[in-house]
Amino acid sequence: MKAFSHATFLASSGSPADMPPPGPPEIAFAGRSNVGKSSAINALLGRRRLAFTSKTPGRTQTLNFFELGEGARLVDLPGYGYARVPQALRAQWESLVGSYITARETLVGVVLVMDARHPLTSLDSQLIHFLGGVRLLVLLSKADKLNRAEQATTLKSVKASLQSEVRLFSSVTRQGVDESRDLLEHWFAASRGNKKPPVKGI
Ligand code: GDP
Repeated sequence: MKAFSHATFLASSGSPADMPPPGPPEIAFAGRSNVGKSSAINALLGRRRLAFTSKTPGRTQTLNFFELGEGARLVDLPGYGYARVPQALRAQWESLVGSYITARETLVGVVLVMDARHPLTSLDSQLIHFLGGVRLLVLLSKADKLNRAEQATTLKSVKASLQSEVRLFSSVTRQGVDESRDLLEHWFAASRGNKKPPVKGI
């Protein structure tokens, strides 16, 4: 059985203190609000609506934990970069996500969803910098909005800027879905074979 074939909601955490105790390896999903993160999670899980899609972007300041099959977890991090989010909420985001990323010993990697039409915004770059040595997959979402030539140019330029894995992705056409799922399954499998937690750069 593959990890992504089963998923059930585990917990929603609004503060570092109420996160579920670390257990199986976790892969966390991050990205600017409205970038297509929930749609990407649902596409990878083969679900119509497992990850919550918020109607008021940027307001969902919780980490949502899901149990996957085969002893693995998926963590949906709150979206960032919504223009109207007040300073206090931004600080809360930093404290919540920052403490998760820096302290979670079972975190095996992060999937960063970026809009293929506007990749590597300054907030994306800040997050990548913050992740340090954490394993990273970048999904260039809504790739269906670009033609083939634009897709190739974007992929090339993002790959040239980053040392991580980068994939074109569309939850509408399902471009990149199977390849991305295979890679994440591989991360989980590798983490089981390697008892030591991944190196954190921070
Ligand atoms: P989130 O805020 O990052 O979780 O974004 P959502 O998954 O809720 O998606 C935001 C909007 O983008 C919604 O209107 C989606 O229907 C749309 N969307 C998400 N993924 C895609 C995609 O791959 N292609 C296109 N064309 N639209 C998408």
